[in-house]
Amino acid sequence: MEPGVRLTGLEGLPPDASQKWAAARVWAASQAPYLATALLALQPLVVDQSGVDGDPPYDLSRLPVDRGWRVYLDPYVLDDLDVPTIGYWLVHQVAHLLRDHAGRFPGSGAPPAEGEGDLFGRRSADSVRWNVSADMEINDDLEAGEVKLPPEAPLPEQLELPDSWLAEQYWHALEGREVPAVDCGSATDARPRDWETHQPGLDGPSTGLIRREVARRVKEALEAGRMTGGWARWAEEVLSPKENWRQQFASAIRRGVADAVGRVDFTYERPSRRSGAAQGVILPSMRQPLPRVAIVIDTSASMRQEQLAQALGEVNGVVRAVGVGRRELHVICCDERAYDAQRVLDARALRLEGGGGTDLGEGLRAASELRPRPHVLVVLTDGHTPWPDRPPAGPRVVVGVLDADGSAPGWAKRVMIDTGGEK
Ligand SMILES: [Zn+2]
Repeated sequence: MEPGVRLTGLEGLPPDASQKWAAARVWAASQAPYLATALLALQPLVVDQSGVDGDPPYDLSRLPVDRGWRVYLDPYVLDDLDVPTIGYWLVHQVAHLLRDHAGRFPGSGAPPAEGEGDLFGRRSADSVRWNVSADMEINDDLEAGEVKLPPEAPLPEQLELPDSWLAEQYWHALEGREVPAVDCGSATDARPRDWETHQPGLDGPSTGLIRREVARRVKEALEAGRMTGGWARWAEEVLSPKENWRQQFASAIRRGVADAVGRVDFTYERPSRRSGAAQGVILPSMRQPLPRVAIVIDTSASMRQEQLAQALGEVNGVVRAVGVGRRELHVICCDERAYDAQRVLDARALRLEGGGGTDLGEGLRAASELRPRPHVLVVLTDGHTPWPDRPPAGPRVVVGVLDADGSAPGWAKRVMIDTGGEK
């Protein structure tokens, strides 16, 4: 946070701004009633930049949100905008959250390259391009009563692109093109912003409930003919039984890491009696090592070309799911034997080896022998392989199965990876 900037609760808003915020939220919920649950879940925080000499360092004109469902209010911005425009941005921002743009961020996640920081205010070109892509996915779907798009909310037609694409499609189409340096906050790409709080926000289970509730209301509205358009596809995905496998996959990996890291810590690092533990406060995150993840990719002949491509795509998803451990990521290709571990930051850099028969037991063994030992092994396979009777000693195992007929062993967490018809 820049000097002179303060983060406070709503009490930090002057009465006029406070009324405007409340009115805008009510206005948004009345224009888009199916989003009411999500709009009410937003936790407002006030970013007071009045103590700064000169220009305020942060542009919060889009009422940016973070991944924990906090919305950041700048009193000057509230003063500037009328109630419907503030309402529009609230609807826009909950759409980023509901559609999990942060979890879908396809960028490398690397910090800005030299020179990029000046262009985009310390954000990478990937972050900016994804923000614009996600905005276009949202904007052409916003059919909510009186909600009108402010001119600075980009529409596909302004960049000569078709309507109704997913953000991922816009992202590819925008490669190498110049885009406006907009910023909707870390809810778009999971990269923390300087003005954001480090306190934990809404957790995964709560946001999952909000998503389902909104999806149910969208479906009701659709059935009653009260709305049309792009939210239908989203609601269908949330409510269908094979919903969110990517989220399940990511959370299985995160849980595996948390389990394994927790176990290691409490075995080897007993908190000192004189530290916070004596007062009943334990701060496990202070002593957590970086999560170490190894990925075993089935490269046997039974894997079809598109399954292999999909498995590669998921490697980036795994990288995102564990965040900080990127440098600790090893990938082992395995057919009937395990090939040398590769250290990669991006799946596109991976050298694929294999093409023979299948024995993933070899890959599991090789991965569990890596030093330092991984906390979690992620296996990507069609599941047509013999599995060892016992799990490897030490790491948790998460198996992403790419074929509905494929098997996974009982000692592993199995996630069915089913993208039938997606993209
Ligand atoms: Zn946005």
